Amino acid sequence: MGDVFDPNRGEVQARVVLGDRSVLDRAIAHARAAQPAWAALNPQRRARVLFRFKELVEAQMDELAHLLSSEHGKVIADARGDIQRGLEVVEFACGIPHALKGEYTQGAGPGIDVFSMRQPIGIGAGITPFNFPAMIPMWMFAVATAVGNAFILKPSERDPSVPVRLAELFLEAGAPEGVLQVVHGDREMVEAILDHPDIAAVSFVGSSDIAHEVYRRGAAAGKRVQAMGGAKNHGIVMPDADLDQVVNDLTGAAFGSAGERCMALPVVVPVGEETAERLRARLIPAIEALRVGVSTDANAHYGPVVSSEHKARVEGWIAKSAEEGAEIVVDGRGLVLQGHEGGWFVGPTLIDRVTPEMRSYHEEIFGPVLQIVRAQTFEEAVALPSRHQYGNGVAIFTRNGHAAREFASRVDVGMVGINVPIPVPVAYHSFGGWKRSAFGDANQHGMEGVRFWTRVKTVTQRWPDGSGGATGHDAFVIPTMG
Ligand code: NAD
Repeated sequence: MGDVFDPNRGEVQARVVLGDRSVLDRAIAHARAAQPAWAALNPQRRARVLFRFKELVEAQMDELAHLLSSEHGKVIADARGDIQRGLEVVEFACGIPHALKGEYTQGAGPGIDVFSMRQPIGIGAGITPFNFPAMIPMWMFAVATAVGNAFILKPSERDPSVPVRLAELFLEAGAPEGVLQVVHGDREMVEAILDHPDIAAVSFVGSSDIAHEVYRRGAAAGKRVQAMGGAKNHGIVMPDADLDQVVNDLTGAAFGSAGERCMALPVVVPVGEETAERLRARLIPAIEALRVGVSTDANAHYGPVVSSEHKARVEGWIAKSAEEGAEIVVDGRGLVLQGHEGGWFVGPTLIDRVTPEMRSYHEEIFGPVLQIVRAQTFEEAVALPSRHQYGNGVAIFTRNGHAAREFASRVDVGMVGINVPIPVPVAYHSFGGWKRSAFGDANQHGMEGVRFWTRVKTVTQRWPDGSGGATGHDAFVIPTMG
């Protein structure tokens, strides 16, 4: 049994039964029973379920956002954004008949045509993190089910209620029982999923060490695995950038959702000392003006972090930065909200003179902490995110098109923003980082998602016209198209 907390108060508000292999076996039996008929429906009929699901979720947006916020701690407007970004993938999946069209070549040889079709992989599973309890499950199950699979979702045990509500609404939208199921659990359940012979593909999103292990274990069991990991995204500020806009973008991207986003921007790299000084002077008042509050406070910029352990961890990294010689410019440690003394709040923190050798730079902090790493040249600025162990997202702020273009093409990172601080690709493109931010093949959603959740079958057909094919010795030679 796991406890589900309200991070605003630091109190248990629900319990979740953590399942084991026998729970998974029951879910697999339902999935196996449901999947062939679901796959046999024409894709338009499956898409209709997704259309209805989208309407049902929209109708319950407020209730879902409040539930999400109460377990995660993100403010209500941000919780709505979490659900909305997931729904955008549902909208993409509503177009699945078009996305499933295969390729066709007429006359590949005499009387020979070749065509390919995309078929579902059977049963897929998704293992999701706490920080986007609506969006990330929808990244996965919308596409996986639309192409004809059954799907088993193992959400984070820290905020499992919204994923359960989504699965209920999917059923209400007309999906047959067994097509989308939720199982709860922690490591034991994840290992059962990775080892289960009936699950063909696993999508994981979470921290990098676990992502790597999930990838290793799932691949060793012969599964297709995509495992997205942690991040440490940099924002490069060129001397010609519009600093008012940059400060506005940076505060939102660094502190929104208490920094608990894999596409947050926790490192800013001003290019040149003058840019660094000008930026720092503007950042300090902007950060000091941020309002930290309970997640239902409509005026709060962000709420509590997810757990007491995480609060201690984030504050530990601030202390570590100071020990390593960085300068704590705004210190958010020890914040207590009156009336919510038990809540897990961390004030916004700005740390300057961070250098690439520091461990606090190397590791993901995942809290409301912005680090300044000063670069002297554009080359140094390109090298910083490129050499970092993570390669999820990066942004450059500039008015110079050539610099932006060079940066985008050379930087060793998977998702790039040009004057866009959180470059999360839209649903019909695909999401995925590089290096230790993602293990395995194929990104989330868009056509990469369709590719991940399907297998290609290629058919070569010949309808002889009676004039005869290869005979005698020729039939023993590998056929060529001449
Ligand atoms: P986490 O790695 O602790 O948990 C992710 C999932 O793994 C959960 O479902 C959890 O139950 C399960 N799990 C936990 N311990 C496990 C273990 N030992 N073995 C197997 N499974 C285990 O991550 P989190 O704290 O929930 O989420 C935050 C992390 O996720 C951050 O590192 C963040 O950067 C990352 N994240 C990455 C992306 C991305 O797309 N790259 C998106 C969102 C979050």
